[in-house]
Amino acid sequence: VSRSSQASAIHRAVGLLDHPTADEVFMHVRRREARVSIGTVYRNLDRLVADGRLRVRQIGGQRRYDSNTATHAHLHCTRCDRLIDIPWRDEEGVGLHPVVQELGFRVEDQILELQGMCAACQKTEAMTREEIPE
Ligand SMILES: [Zn+2]
Ligand SMILES: [Zn+2]
Repeated sequence: VSRSSQASAIHRAVGLLDHPTADEVFMHVRRREARVSIGTVYRNLDRLVADGRLRVRQIGGQRRYDSNTATHAHLHCTRCDRLIDIPWRDEEGVGLHPVVQELGFRVEDQILELQGMCAACQKTEAMTREEIPE
């Protein structure tokens, strides 16, 4: 197995798994390539991030990899830990905020995360409430 095919398998896995951790990528890739090591996965993930092909985000105390390299925000469901991408394009708008201007700060990246509960978790919660009357 060549190095570049491992890298592309790892890149593909990140896209399929939707914001996975390194461990989740490892578990996925190992199903097809039994000889892949966690070290190889970490090394390739680091390289893909350095090359700008993946982004890494610290979310809920975990490093999660993201194959969406466009500027976007995350809706983070704190119950099931799911991340939903939403388009977010406001680089200039934020940079023009009076306080940002006053501090002379140059905005280079935005990491916006909205925390809450996804529709599926709200439904589950509503059902649980109906099943267990108080
Ligand atoms: Zn959820
Ligand atoms: Zn994302």
